[in-house]
Amino acid sequence: MKQMDSLATSLRCIECGGASPLGYTLQCPTCGGLLELLYDEPLLRRLGTGAFTGTGLWRYAPVLPIADPAHRVSLGEGATPLLDCPRLARELGVQRLVVKFEGANPTGTVKDRSSATGVSAALQFGFAVTSVVSSGNAGSSIAAYSARAGLRSLIFCYERASAPKMLHMAATATDLVIYKGVYDDLITLWDRLAEEGLFFDCGASRNPYKHEGKKTIAYEIAEGLGWRAPDLVVAPVAVGETFIAASRGFAEMERLGLIARRPIMAAAQAARANAVVRAWRDKAAITPLKIGYTVAEGLAAGDPGRKGDWVLRILRETGGVAGQAEDEEILAAQSLLARTEGIWAGPTGVAALAVLKNLLHEKEVDPAATICVILSETGLKTEAAPPSRPAIAFDEASLRSLVREKVRES
Ligand SMILES: *Cc1c(COP(=O)(O)O)cnc(C)c1O
Ligand SMILES: [Zn+2]
Repeated sequence: MKQMDSLATSLRCIECGGASPLGYTLQCPTCGGLLELLYDEPLLRRLGTGAFTGTGLWRYAPVLPIADPAHRVSLGEGATPLLDCPRLARELGVQRLVVKFEGANPTGTVKDRSSATGVSAALQFGFAVTSVVSSGNAGSSIAAYSARAGLRSLIFCYERASAPKMLHMAATATDLVIYKGVYDDLITLWDRLAEEGLFFDCGASRNPYKHEGKKTIAYEIAEGLGWRAPDLVVAPVAVGETFIAASRGFAEMERLGLIARRPIMAAAQAARANAVVRAWRDKAAITPLKIGYTVAEGLAAGDPGRKGDWVLRILRETGGVAGQAEDEEILAAQSLLARTEGIWAGPTGVAALAVLKNLLHEKEVDPAATICVILSETGLKTEAAPPSRPAIAFDEASLRSLVREKVRES
């Protein structure tokens, strides 16, 4: 099916409101603020849901900023499962729980949405090289999409990223460089080089084109519920891209008349990387944290920068909520999800579920609501030793007796 045109019209500064044309501009030329994309909303309102054709992320091409269909890179991202989880809902004591399982994306994480529009934008603006600083997932994803697009990729990866992520990156990246320390130690230096235009900026700090792909998660959740938003969406926050993009997507659909009202947004962080949660609780500005290790590797950002401020602004302006979970709570949520619903998400991916559990306990959210949790990664790329169990040599009798015993137990 022919892909629809992009209806992007301009960029707008989220601080001063100043407009810029649709170029490769990373921050407001007037005040240095972050930029967001604007679209032809009168036309989109007239088109309604008829604007969307085909499947996967590019179904939403009219509300994405890639003009030429030849530039739209795809590995089959988006159209991820939106699963009703009645057994898990009962365990948590909530009326209706749905999960958006982003582990089903091509490289196993929500990052593929922003990589699709990011690498497509690199083609759109004529770049030959992409680069990113990553704790593992972004690097994996940008490397894969760059290879798919025929671009070179220079990937900087966290030294403690899991072996499956490292293997995947080593296979797909043009250059994989392992850095000492955590994300925060390198990102400021790298951001400075990005400003010099040495490569296309696939980082999370500011590129509005890359950021925009993640907006499609909101469109898919609403469309999956019959063009209706859940009451509450719980989204993980590292730098805040996923949270902001989902929130912008719901707000945009509300303005376009595609949904009656947008959901309340809950920001979920690891307790060991909780800069946004602290600021929200203290009603203060964000104080960057020096952080060490958390099992939620993908959330290990102690300084979310200006996107962190944007997350706080959304929380405060829309009556949102923020919560956190300890590493042990995250691992407990991971096995609860696997046991009750058969969904295997990694620790980063399941952090939002652990946080929901805590928010319910603290009575910060309403258990009678329809709640959607974003599970942002597969568990199949986590570092893991197999459970230690002895191997058994069987004969016919011992096999029969074991099977009988196990079947009777159930
Ligand atoms: C990067 C990442 C996130 C969140 O990062 P944001 O920058 O806040 O969007 C969440 N989950 C996974 C699996 C990730 O890789
Ligand atoms: Zn500005």
